[in-house]
Amino acid sequence: MSKDSVTLADDYQQRVQQQRTFFMKSQPFSYTYRLQQLKLLKQTIEANKSQLIEALDTDLSKPEFEAYLTEVGFVLNELSDTLKHLKKWMKPKKVSTPYFIQPAKSHIHATPLGVCLIISPFNYPVSLCLSPLIAALAAGNTCIVKTSELTPNVSRVLSTMINSAFAPEYVQCIEGDVEHVTALLVQKFDHIFFTGSSEVGKIVMQQAAKQLTPVTLELGGKSPCIVCADANIDIAVKRIVYGKMLNTGQTCVAPDYVLVADSIKQEFIDKLVGRINKLYGNEPSKNPALGRIVNQRHTSRISELIEQEKVVVGGQFDIEQRYIAPTVMANIELSDAIMQQEIFGPVLPIMSFTDHDQALQIIEALPAHPLAAYIFSENQSTQSLLSTKIQAGGIAINHCIQHLANPNLPFGGVGLSGIGSYHGKHGFDRFSHQKSVLSASTWLDLPLIYPPYKHKLSLLKKMFK
Ligand code: NAD
Repeated sequence: MSKDSVTLADDYQQRVQQQRTFFMKSQPFSYTYRLQQLKLLKQTIEANKSQLIEALDTDLSKPEFEAYLTEVGFVLNELSDTLKHLKKWMKPKKVSTPYFIQPAKSHIHATPLGVCLIISPFNYPVSLCLSPLIAALAAGNTCIVKTSELTPNVSRVLSTMINSAFAPEYVQCIEGDVEHVTALLVQKFDHIFFTGSSEVGKIVMQQAAKQLTPVTLELGGKSPCIVCADANIDIAVKRIVYGKMLNTGQTCVAPDYVLVADSIKQEFIDKLVGRINKLYGNEPSKNPALGRIVNQRHTSRISELIEQEKVVVGGQFDIEQRYIAPTVMANIELSDAIMQQEIFGPVLPIMSFTDHDQALQIIEALPAHPLAAYIFSENQSTQSLLSTKIQAGGIAINHCIQHLANPNLPFGGVGLSGIGSYHGKHGFDRFSHQKSVLSASTWLDLPLIYPPYKHKLSLLKKMFK
């Protein structure tokens, strides 16, 4: 570690200690306190709405509609849902008590974890910073949030608004790159909530393991779309293009690749090409609905995945302008470069399958379980077969990405696509410890469990069988 890193680590140690002292003194934060703080967060977001949308435009050329739908509006909605349900979520849950430990009452209390660290990525820099923060504060924790260095303008607005609204011992926002994360990860947190790539997820988990700090890892991967022979092709095409082009393909649950039934392959491709041409026109680079790739490094990486001889639409790019045209590539094989990594850009490779088993084998041949899988079929038994067989973080049938918009559904990965889930009550639970509290009565004290054990074993065997 360099001298600067040591200084940084010392600084972060003090900040974490400051939050821990406050947490120990104040916990558990009351319902009223949490409500006030969440309302303050809501007011702060409302007051900074236009700055956030402007910064999203500067960093990612994110269209205002998308910026509202997936970032600002998304977190405001999550906040409203949390404010509405918080009292109910906080209420201890009564559970039954088996007869052999009666008389007693049993409850589960959702208690805060303590001082939490949230590390967020670049692609939805507002929602993936604030959505976990809402859950962490609702559950009664204090929080340090680290924003992405790849979206510096959004990070600046977030840190200014968070740090001016909240006391640092309760919530603080840190802007910074790897060096900052490294200095943060040597601190003792009670929970680390990381959203980002699987590679960095491994680093976070290794560091956390040194102090046995529990982690939530919201990672990425290759999410397939399976378009079956009986699919409504027009709807499939519309929704796949929507899911793929949202945020210029830089979405963790974007359809990464398509598996289409052989019998409808050509019709599907023709309609896909038609849809892209209709939406983005002859000069997609001038279309305001298409954003830009976050930086030249990622633009160059994506451009190298395009095999021009396989392109059926698009294929153009401009690294300096961080531009990649909406692109579809057909006749793809598992060994192609584009199938070796998460694409994270507006390029859609297409493979075909003869039967469902072959489609499943292709998905299973890839190293990670996908974060999402999309099944397009009109047949309920096909929908049921594929959604049961595919090991994925989440499934949407006949749609893309929309499962994320339902706060009642847990959002998270499985296996290499992540650990743990959140959104709505699931986020509150993720940032809570489920504390068991058994309260026994003293008016009756059955002697069964106490020595001497003589003659009690046969009774025990009758009870426990
Ligand atoms: P990333 O992993 O490069 O960065 C995420 C965070 O980790 C950033 O705050 C960054 O500062 C930090 N970081 C980067 N390198 C680090 C290192 N070597 N050591 C410690 N910290 C480091 O991810 P990204 O490029 O910002 O985001 C894209 C990835 O995130 C994609 O893989 C995508 O699928 C995934 N993602 C997942 C979800 C989800 O909810 N599951 C959501 C969005 C993005």
